[in-house]
Amino acid sequence: MVWDGLRPDMVSEDLTPRLHALAGAGTWFERSHAVVPPVTRCNSAALSTGCLPEHHGIPGNHFVLPRDEGVHLLNAADADDLEQLRSFRNGRVLLRRTLAELVSEAGGHTAIVGTGSPGAALLQHPQVRDAASSGDAIYNHSLWLGSSREDVEAELGPMPEGSVPNTEQNVYFTKLITDLLIASDKAPALITFWHTDPDRTKHRQGVGHPDAIRALRDADRNLGSILDALDATGRADSTNVIVTSDHGFATVAERVDINELLTREIIAKKRAKGERVGHAPFGFTYQNKQLVPVQNELKIVKLIRDHRNQGYSYHKIARYLNDRKISSKRGGIWYAETVKTVYQNTIYDRYKPNEPAPMPEVKK
Ligand SMILES: [Zn+2]
Repeated sequence: MVWDGLRPDMVSEDLTPRLHALAGAGTWFERSHAVVPPVTRCNSAALSTGCLPEHHGIPGNHFVLPRDEGVHLLNAADADDLEQLRSFRNGRVLLRRTLAELVSEAGGHTAIVGTGSPGAALLQHPQVRDAASSGDAIYNHSLWLGSSREDVEAELGPMPEGSVPNTEQNVYFTKLITDLLIASDKAPALITFWHTDPDRTKHRQGVGHPDAIRALRDADRNLGSILDALDATGRADSTNVIVTSDHGFATVAERVDINELLTREIIAKKRAKGERVGHAPFGFTYQNKQLVPVQNELKIVKLIRDHRNQGYSYHKIARYLNDRKISSKRGGIWYAETVKTVYQNTIYDRYKPNEPAPMPEVKK
């Protein structure tokens, strides 16, 4: 059972009595920690494969895939997005086998149950279709593979909508585990339950918010229901129960947006290599994805830079260019802001016009 976003310091006799008791009677893995980056989906794959992201192939919640001429930003919470990885990976989503696959190969059948994103559920057992004949299944509010929502609803009634905290839906899927899976004659050899709280509620409301506390109590009560069902069916002694989390939660107010930083880095690298990124800057055009200098425009760049360096305002330079019908990119007129963009772009440092720029006077 994965309690998404559980902080170890929030496991206590008062707040999470069932988990606290389980830890007391079992083993507490003190050095358990998230893999970097400590976000859900790459930790979901780390939990299912036992590998670091560089080996399992899910480097973040979002990452880029090559597509046509450009790239596609893949959202690992989206099962359809994850499916696209198969065309690059010999029909696989992950680069390593999962625990569910190994259990399946050894003749056991597995059930992945999840109230988190469909992506986090799929990453627990992406080859579930290959194993569907053996009875492997994914049960997620938005992803039913080897299972059917209709069949489950016929037994348990209508599935509740998601909410914050996700109390009702979490209870519903817990019931699916206790009443339909554990109680079955053919109980799965492996059940993985991805419990979206406390993560969902901590994100919306904050770590210490009363709703987040309620979300923790929900998770504990649901764990309790599962432990009780194992007891009631006589399976407790032959079952290993592991409760873990994909990551904790920090209370820092400042945020470093790694995706944003990496994107900026990638764009800078592409520019440095002369590869196409968006529109070509003034002074260049694209030929076969390579930036190619346009000499006439580079002369204007030199004019702009020289005059600005001599103290002319961006506004003055813009008016000078417009008065002489020198058009900016795509035939447009110049504004102080466009002149400033050209002046501040360091790409021109590496390109000089072949001939000296015309240097007519611009009035200061
Ligand atoms: Zn998470």
